[in-house]
Amino acid sequence: VEQYLQVINEKSHLNVFLEVFAEEALAKADVVDEKIRAGRQGRLAGMVISLKDVLCYKGHKLQAGSRILEGFVSQFTGTAVQRLLDEDAIIIGRTNCDEFAMGSSSENSAYGPVVNAAGEKRVPGGSSGGSAVSVQSDMCLLSLGTDTGGSVRQPASFCGIVGYKPTYSRISRYGLLAYASSFDTIGTFAHTIEDTALVLEIMAGHDDYDSTVSHEPVLPYSTLLSNNKKYKIAYLKEPLASPEISAPVKGAVEDAITWLKKDGHTVEPVEFNYLDYVLPTYYILTTAEASSNLSRYDGVKYGYRSKSHVNLETMYKKSRSEAFGKEVQRRILLGTFVLSASYYDAFYTKALKARKLIQQATRDILKEYDFIILPTSPTVAFKLGEHTKNPLEMYLADLFTVQASVAGVPAISIPYGDDDEGMPIGLQLIADAFQEEKLLAFSRHIL
Ligand code: GLN
Repeated sequence: VEQYLQVINEKSHLNVFLEVFAEEALAKADVVDEKIRAGRQGRLAGMVISLKDVLCYKGHKLQAGSRILEGFVSQFTGTAVQRLLDEDAIIIGRTNCDEFAMGSSSENSAYGPVVNAAGEKRVPGGSSGGSAVSVQSDMCLLSLGTDTGGSVRQPASFCGIVGYKPTYSRISRYGLLAYASSFDTIGTFAHTIEDTALVLEIMAGHDDYDSTVSHEPVLPYSTLLSNNKKYKIAYLKEPLASPEISAPVKGAVEDAITWLKKDGHTVEPVEFNYLDYVLPTYYILTTAEASSNLSRYDGVKYGYRSKSHVNLETMYKKSRSEAFGKEVQRRILLGTFVLSASYYDAFYTKALKARKLIQQATRDILKEYDFIILPTSPTVAFKLGEHTKNPLEMYLADLFTVQASVAGVPAISIPYGDDDEGMPIGLQLIADAFQEEKLLAFSRHIL
C-alpha cells in the first residue's frame, strides 16, 4: 500500500484519483497482515484495488465525475465491492471518469481530464479512464470500472492492459450508479488474466438486491485457465474494411489472424451486416434509459442544489443546468426526445427492433464459431482535445465495442503490440453469453 501511495503521489499530474483513501488502506493492510500471519486471510488478501467513481462504498463520497453529486456520501456498499472486501481486498481510492460514465476519453469529468501514462498528450480512453491509468501506471493492482458500450475495453486498449466486460447480468448492479440499466456491466482492469478471472469469480453470481442478475452457476474461472484447445474463430470483414480503422490497428488484427492460423485454429471471415446500425441503436437506447435514470438528480434528493431558485420548478431547472455537464445534458435531451410521444415509435421502438436483429446476428455467428475477433478501437489513443468539439467523432471511438454490449455477451480487450509511437493496440475477443471460462482461458493462451 505504501508503494502504491508513493506512485499515486509522484504521478498526481495524470489526474487519476478523485480521492485516495490513504489512512484507511494502510489500516486495512495491517489487519490483513495479521490475518495472513494467523492463516485466516481471504482469497484477495493484499490485493490493492481502485474503484471507478460510480460504485457505492459505504461512508465514502461518490460523485460520478459530476458536480451534481457534490457532498453526496454512499449509504451502503454495492454487492460486487462488498464481495471483494469480504475476501480482504484493500480499496485505495476512487478514480476519475467521464461524468456518469458518458464518454470515450475521460475528458467529460467535472474534475478535469485523465492523462494516459503511455503518452502524456493522449487521452486514456473512457469512460473508465482513471481506473485504466491506475492499473497501467501501477497505482494499484486491479481496478473496477463499468462497461456500458465499451468503457472498460476501450480504455484498456488505449493503456495496454487487460479489460474485461462480463456477460450482461453476470455481476450484480446493486450499488452501481445507473447510466443505461439494460447495458451496464461492472468490468475489470488488470495486467493478467489470472487476476481478472479470480476477481470475476468472486464478484459474479446471484444477488437478492438485483432482480436482473443471472442464476447461471459461477465457475471457478481462475482454475480453468489452462486450455490448449483448437478453436473455430470468426473475424468480421466489415471492421477491417471500415474507413475508420487506422493502419497500425488493422495491421495488428491481421497479424493476430495469421498467428492464430499458425497456432492451429480455424480462422474464417464472416459477414456482419449491421455494423452501420450498432452505434445509432446503442445511442438511441442508452440515451433513452439515461434520461430516465438521471431524472432522480433534481436538487432535492442528492448533492447539489442551486442557490438562485425562486420556486420548485426553477430549483429543478437551475440545479440540473448548473451541475450537469454538456455531454450529460446532450444525452438527457436526446433521450427525452426519442421517448417523446411523437417520436417514440420512429426512434425508440425501432432501435429496440434493431437491437434484436444485432443480438440475433451476433449470437448466430457465435453458434457456429467459438469466438469473434476484432479490434477493440479503430485507432490508438488520440490526443487530448482532438475530438471534444465533435460528439459524433467521439462516438465513433466505440464503433467496435458496442456490438458486444448491444448483444449482452462477454468481451475482452487484450494488449497486442504498439504503433510506431509506442501507443498500445488492443485486440478484442467476443464469446457467447456465459462462456466466461472459455473466453478467459483462450485470452490467457494468446497473452
Ligand atoms: N463511450 C460510450 C458512451 O459514451 C460507452 C460508455 C460506457 O461504456 N460507459 O456511451
